[in-house]
Amino acid sequence: MLAVGSFCLHTLDVQYFSLDGGSVFGVVPRVLWEKVIQPDDLNRVRLSMRMLLARSNGLNILVDAAMGTAWSEKMKTIYDLSEWRLDEELASAGVSRDDITDVVFTHLHFDHVAGAFEEKNGRLSSVFPNARFHVQRRNLETALSPNLKEKPSYTGSFVEALAASESLNLIDGPCELFPGFELVPCGEGHTAGHQLVRISDNETTLIHAGDLVPSSAHLGLNRGLAFDILPLEVIREKTELLGEIVDGNWILYFAHDPFIEAATIRREDGRMVADRTVRL
Ligand SMILES: [Zn+2]
Repeated sequence: MLAVGSFCLHTLDVQYFSLDGGSVFGVVPRVLWEKVIQPDDLNRVRLSMRMLLARSNGLNILVDAAMGTAWSEKMKTIYDLSEWRLDEELASAGVSRDDITDVVFTHLHFDHVAGAFEEKNGRLSSVFPNARFHVQRRNLETALSPNLKEKPSYTGSFVEALAASESLNLIDGPCELFPGFELVPCGEGHTAGHQLVRISDNETTLIHAGDLVPSSAHLGLNRGLAFDILPLEVIREKTELLGEIVDGNWILYFAHDPFIEAATIRREDGRMVADRTVRL
């Protein structure tokens, strides 16, 4: 657990999946990235889909929701989807599904939204019955009508379930959702309407960068995902964000890193590298 102001921050290692290594590292050749993450026999790399839980004065806020369970056997095999450890991980942080008050989505790609829903009687229903869902309006609009490149990343059934939810709160632009808990639109190069989460007091700042910096292996400025819609914009946004993180000595949270959940960042020979690993 990490305390930031009135917030107690916990990381929930709820689920793993595997993606093709080429899609995870974009233009970087395998001979380089396999030194960081070893692929399996199908060239897939194992990634975490961890959730960030922020607790404060009756609030229990989750950031992103992994993939969950409402997938066909075929899709579970393609993504080598692991077991869903939501209840165990929530319990270890002292809460249950019913206690979750808010779920913030950085964006609605399937590996960030699907776990908020489960199949019951042939329909998708909320895993968190008492939670409000927060997402940028522009991202929902993109998700409801995706372009051809992004269509495989936005799974319609989950996006439609969210859009139909009475608990949905659509956000336009930057927003201090709760004191010390800000939503920061950034990451347009990954997808339209992508947002970061910044939790801060006077001394400590932690930033969840969604898929703008999905793992410590993506600190290299040209290490983008093949899913990014505007790779040059990702480089520009990442350069600016990492500069702020280094200068402010902030903590960067990695949602997909299979090895570490968070770290401070430093410059080394003109490159950005993980410095001090932080456990939540
Ligand atoms: Zn994404």
